[in-house]
Parts: sequence; C-alpha cells; structure tokens
Amino acid sequence: MNTKVITCMEENDKACLAEAGRILKAGGLVAFPTETVYGLGGDAFNPDSSRKIYAAKGRPSDNPLIVHICKWDDIYRLVSTAPEHAGKLAAAKKLADAFWPGPLTMILPKAEEVPEETTGGLRTVAVRMPSHKTALALIEASGGYVAAPSANTSGRPSPTLAKYVLEDMDGRIDMVIDGGEVGIGLESTIVDLTVSPAEILRPGYVTEAMLRTLLGEIETDRTVFDGNSGQAPKAPGMKYRHYAPKGELTIVSGEEEKTFSYINERLRQARAAGKRTAVIAAEETARNYDADIRKSLGGRTDGLSAAKRLYRVLRELDDEGAEIIYAEAFENTGLGAALMNRLLKAAGHRMIEL
Ligand code: AMP
Ligand code: MG
Repeated sequence: MNTKVITCMEENDKACLAEAGRILKAGGLVAFPTETVYGLGGDAFNPDSSRKIYAAKGRPSDNPLIVHICKWDDIYRLVSTAPEHAGKLAAAKKLADAFWPGPLTMILPKAEEVPEETTGGLRTVAVRMPSHKTALALIEASGGYVAAPSANTSGRPSPTLAKYVLEDMDGRIDMVIDGGEVGIGLESTIVDLTVSPAEILRPGYVTEAMLRTLLGEIETDRTVFDGNSGQAPKAPGMKYRHYAPKGELTIVSGEEEKTFSYINERLRQARAAGKRTAVIAAEETARNYDADIRKSLGGRTDGLSAAKRLYRVLRELDDEGAEIIYAEAFENTGLGAALMNRLLKAAGHRMIEL
C-alpha cells in the first residue's frame, strides 16, 4: 500500500481533509495530529477498520481503542443511556464542560451498536473530544466517530511528529496528515466513570487535582506507579510493555550530588564494558554526566517541555544506538505524574532510590 502524506498546518485545508474523511468512511486508515500525540484513525462503527488498526500496529486485539468525537451530542450514540447509567453520563457532562475539547478520555458503559472490535471485547467504551483543529475537522469530515489509538507500532513510543508515524506506518496505512509537532506529547488522561469513586487509569495533562475539584472523590489505579502490585492494570493497554527503548533504561531518584556520582560511576562501568552510554536529565544538570549521549528534557520545573520531549528522546536514543541509559527522576506531581508513569514504563519499572 502506498501511504499518502499531506501537510495541514495552521489553516485547515478543506480539500485535503475531505479526502481523508472519504478514506475513513470507506474503511481506510488515516493518521492525524492531536494535541496529545498522533492518532491512527479508522471508522469507529466499522469492525473491519478496527481490525485493520490492530494489524497495522501489531497490537493485541484485547487492547481497546479510544473513540474520538467532535461535538458533545454525538456521545449518545456511543454510550448506554439506560436509566441506571444516568449518573455516569451526568458526571461525563460535567467533565466535558470543563475539559473538552481537550486531553481527557472518559470510560463509560457502551451502547449496543459500538462494535466489540473497537472496544477490545469490553462492555465499556473510551470517548474523547480532542482540541486540535485538524483532528476536529477530520472527525467531522469522516462522519463523527474516529476510533484511534496512538499511531506507533505496538511497544514503541507514541509519535509526536509525522516523521515518527511514517517510520512505523509507511506502507501500512492509507494516509498521514502532517500537522507538525504535537502540543503536549503524552497521551490523554483516562478516567473510568463506570466505578465509584471514579478512577484514573492513565495520568495525563488533566491531573488528579483538576478532576477532584469537579468530582469530589477520585482514585488512581495503583498499577500506574507500582510495577510490583501483582494486579493487572485496569486500562488494558497499560499492561503491555510500552515505550521501551532498545537500550537498558534505569531511573535514579535521590539528592542531586548523590545522583551525579551514582550515575557517573555506573556510566564508567558500562563504558569499560564497551557499551554506548546515555543520560536523560534536566537542562540544569545534563552537563554533569559523563555519557556518550546526553539528552535534556528541558528545565527541571518545566513539566510541559519534558512531556513534549520524552518520546522523541526515547526514539533518538534508539537511533543513536544507546545501550545503557540512566534517567534522572522527575517530581511525581501534576503533569510530572504522567511523565514519571511513562518513564517508569519505559524502564520496565527499574528505579534506584538513593
Ligand atoms: P492508546 O491511545 O494507544 O494508548 O490506546 C488507547 C488506550 O485507551 C489503551 O491504553 C486502552 O487500554 C485504553 N482504553 C480504551 N478503551 C478502554 C476501556 N473501555 N476501558 C479501559 N481502558 C480503555
Ligand atoms: Mg498507544
């Protein structure tokens, strides 16, 4: 298959998006930019499209997709409106008023009509309304319901640039819409509204504190930060090894001076063993490490910059042949919680606390 690439930056190019919309309606796949990461879209009501998404990504078929919509009223075709679910929909409306369009995905009981291929066999459905203008225009052009996971090969970091989508998907999908670099760089927050209290299954830009002001009580699935809980994560996607670089990644948490000397000692040993070494650190501290490759995630207190750079840095480390990688830990609050969750997954939860 020949993958067509179109560029669609600030202005929405109606002709291009109309073509992309036609591809989706006909059961094809289109990768598109969102404010979080690039998505790999298909028609959410077409089971064949969902099957094609799993095939293109090499993704296990029990790992459900997120259905993207472009206006609130469209949610009623996706979720069950049975009277016993009225409270969950009311909570969803409250969150939608505050955070949609935006980087928040809500889990709700699904309507019968939503194919199980799209929901990975679950009786619930994940719904999000992205804020990216091109994404919204594409959803509208395609009929309103775009099922989309991140546009990477399963197990690789989510793409934050169109070139990374092509790296993984060239020849496997019909079209890529290049909208430049994404804004946030980490996937949406996922909140499960089918349980009481509501539960965060994946941290993201919309934080626990932000959700708590609206919902009152809220919990976070403990598997998000604890690799040894022995429990299965409640978002099926979170149970798979994700975002893993080819090199061996270890996170080091502790006082600055101790972290420098611990990591530098380890780097020395790795070098002596003939390994190509790398460090992921904050802008302020990166120069303190004696590694073959040094990657800065930006200023220590600039969570947004770190979120935006993380996946790119992980892909660059693969390209540059890093074999032994050490990363500084980041503060686990606000957007830092999402960053640490992804970093921990990339490291297979290998973290040294000094
Ligand atoms: P991705 O955007 O590639 O991370 O894929 C979508 C994510 O949403 C996966 O991690 C899924 O496990 C999660 N997800 C989708 N639908 C559901 C659902 N009904 N319940 C829990 N998690 C879900
Ligand atoms: Mg993904």
